[in-house]
Amino acid sequence: EPVDNSPAIVVGSGYGGAVAALRLAQAGIRTLVLEMGRAWNTAGPDGKVFCTTASPDKRSMWFRARTEAPLASFLWLDVVNRDITPYPGVLDRVRFANMSVYVGRGVGGGSLVNGSMAVTPLRSYFAEQFPTVDATEMYGTYFPRARAMLGVNSIDPAWFESTDWYRFTRTARKAAQRTGLRTTFVPSVYDFAYMRKEAAGTVPRSALGQEVIYGNNHGKRSLDKTYLAAALGTGNVTLHTMEKVTAISRASDGSWVLETGRLDDTGTVVETKQYGCAYLFLGGGSLGTTELLVRARQSGTLPALDASVGAGWGPNGNVMLGRANHLWDTTGADQSTMPVMGIDDWANPDNPVFAEMAPLPTGLENWVSLYLAITKNPERATLSYDNGSLSLSWSAAQSAVSVAMAKKLFDRINAANSTIYRYDLFGTPSKVFADDFCYHPLGGCVLGKATDDYGRVKGYSRLYVTDSSLVPGNIGVNPFVTITALAERTMARVLVEDTAP
Ligand code: FAD
Repeated sequence: EPVDNSPAIVVGSGYGGAVAALRLAQAGIRTLVLEMGRAWNTAGPDGKVFCTTASPDKRSMWFRARTEAPLASFLWLDVVNRDITPYPGVLDRVRFANMSVYVGRGVGGGSLVNGSMAVTPLRSYFAEQFPTVDATEMYGTYFPRARAMLGVNSIDPAWFESTDWYRFTRTARKAAQRTGLRTTFVPSVYDFAYMRKEAAGTVPRSALGQEVIYGNNHGKRSLDKTYLAAALGTGNVTLHTMEKVTAISRASDGSWVLETGRLDDTGTVVETKQYGCAYLFLGGGSLGTTELLVRARQSGTLPALDASVGAGWGPNGNVMLGRANHLWDTTGADQSTMPVMGIDDWANPDNPVFAEMAPLPTGLENWVSLYLAITKNPERATLSYDNGSLSLSWSAAQSAVSVAMAKKLFDRINAANSTIYRYDLFGTPSKVFADDFCYHPLGGCVLGKATDDYGRVKGYSRLYVTDSSLVPGNIGVNPFVTITALAERTMARVLVEDTAP
């Protein structure tokens, strides 16, 4: 088979991959980006690039015959999920024994499907999780750089207080305040100037049109509009879509060899290829990158990988839950899909939790306050490659640790407000806490353990990890700002030290 050579290859086009591609290209290094998902830049027959959450079609999910939305039911009715034609849709749900992991597929990775919350972690907790990283440099240089490039903005507080679209958040805030809890605004990469025009009826609705987990047709500054647009604009980046990297090995001259499979719209591998490069950057996300590495260690193609590759995985303590409000505490029929506020109880030494006020935009008053809680769950699991597939050792008992922490906080809120949980949201009757899926897979190739302190993979030269695999299982807030800033830090170092002629 012919080997197609590039100076640098980047696997994946999420946060870690996009930062690597831009900074390599700006340094004048020709770079090939390989992404298994499709480009989300052409409209379907309905004139839209993405389908809505309310009426999902084949564009919603990655090769599924039925959608698998996180809210399996509402009032115990299976009204949320729909039969669809298998297709390379934008949202994937990767199922392991006790944990399903949601990930984005396509040019832009998770940025295509996520809630846009752009949160910088508490400095003290960042320092605790990354003891070998210079926090002064991170908070002085790389976090600001990441936020600027990502286009982070904040909601105008006056508009927040007055618009119907955030009544659900104000109701959730009232319940938190009655409990004596601190609330805080959460920044976003959704363009709030656009959202106000949506509310005024002068532009097509996206956040105000129930769009989010299956992609936003407008308003969102996803990576294809920011880092990746800039990377492609240099002229030094080639992007291949629908091409999945399946194996990595090293040639005798020290260059990298990648095996890939090109997928068609039915998921069939229509072509296999080999690529070569001098510098290899892994940005396939916590699952994608770790899978490639544990597989390479297991199959013997990269035997010198550290024993810690695969370890240190966690779901960022994610738990979802709903509370039922009193009839007079309405949440509103109109709900923006972009969360803008959280309950910040992270400083509580007995039970650190950061809980975001999430929408449940059913188009009808439902009195539900929905939350995504991020708990300081210390449990970690290991990803390994056995019998031809990736497995995750995360147990139900490890999820129970997150649930206990969320329950402790929300029992207080319910007691202070004389309210109860909602029992009808997560499929099985009486399931209050959704602890079997996560949005924030972190770890598997932890910074300073599986790699050096800059993401250089131990045991090999010119091999780098730039994505969520580096984060040790928990960061206390939504992770993409941290992932982006760490990738900026890696690229700044590597381009100076490793690629000089
Ligand atoms: P990803 O963004 O996952 O990108 C990896 C890319 O690599 C994907 O496009 C994938 O298709 C591709 N890939 C993987 N393996 C291969 C391979 N072998 N070959 C080729 N391509 C490959 N975070 C926040 O900070 N704020 C939020 O509001 C938020 N909300 C979320 C909501 C949802 C529904 C989800 C799913 C996630 C959310 N997240 C949020 C999490 C955030 O999106 C992820 O942490 C982030 O995208 C991870 O970035 P990454 O660079 O590690 O990988």
